[in-house]
Amino acid sequence: MSLTRRDFLATSSVAIAGLAVSRLPAWAQPAAPLVTAFTEVRRGVGMFTATGGTIGYLVNADGAVAVDSQYAPNAEICVKGLRERAPKGIDMLINTHHHGDHVGGNQVFRSAVRRIVAHENCLAWHRKTAQQAGTEGQTSFADTTFTDTWKADFGDETIHARHYGPGHTSGDAVITFERANIVHGGDLLFRRVHPFIDRPAGASIANWVRTLEKVASAGSADTIFIFGHGKDGVVQGTREDVTYFRNYLQAALDHAVTGVKAGRSKEEVTALAALPGFEDVAALGARLNMAAVLGVAFDEARGLAP
Ligand SMILES: [Zn+2]
Repeated sequence: MSLTRRDFLATSSVAIAGLAVSRLPAWAQPAAPLVTAFTEVRRGVGMFTATGGTIGYLVNADGAVAVDSQYAPNAEICVKGLRERAPKGIDMLINTHHHGDHVGGNQVFRSAVRRIVAHENCLAWHRKTAQQAGTEGQTSFADTTFTDTWKADFGDETIHARHYGPGHTSGDAVITFERANIVHGGDLLFRRVHPFIDRPAGASIANWVRTLEKVASAGSADTIFIFGHGKDGVVQGTREDVTYFRNYLQAALDHAVTGVKAGRSKEEVTALAALPGFEDVAALGARLNMAAVLGVAFDEARGLAP
């Protein structure tokens, strides 16, 4: 790329302005405007995207249901939008797992909903992390928990939550809107981006692979899957996308197991730039990259304690 002097000056001033702003302490930096979107998917089910994990929602004659709550400022916009769409109000919030970008807006939903539903381990981890952060007093937890499955009829829709054992954490739930044939997988579903694998919170790549097999086979060619995070912000996918992610996780674990059997070090195992066949999987933020995934895979392959 060649630059004219004018281009150079324009580019430099943007770069310099960016540098100056980035040198300010975080509290003094102008807040980036929050870009939010409600996207209708099918039969009253949709997605609210802003920052953090995708919020799924259902709106019908009985009111609204939300799946995950992102962060408090995002949740305020989501709650307002859902109330506008559902005159009967928001009946419930379901949490797919306890990570902050999925439950951080719970306290905003708390006064709007009758109940908050989550897997029992999600509640336990949510309590534990809030205790550790000293934020228990400002946190809203699930009041309805389940062990294996939970089901509710809502208007003309049936909502089913299922837990398949440890995957992304040990408290993941997969939420299915049966009649719409839409599955919200929370962070069990990363679309073409390197996933976070929370081993300290009980994650298991081996069982995550089995979970995705069950999730994919429970769906049909017409099932729409909502992903927790996705490349270029695309968080909607098909059964093929679920299987692709299953194959990626299996390949990561296979690479680590092979390396451990060959006596390779963690540094050697994590040096791989990309898994063959999965070169288009992108980093998500600064920390979620190939090396991070292979590091966790190495620990799992070694059977190391988290
Ligand atoms: Zn997560």
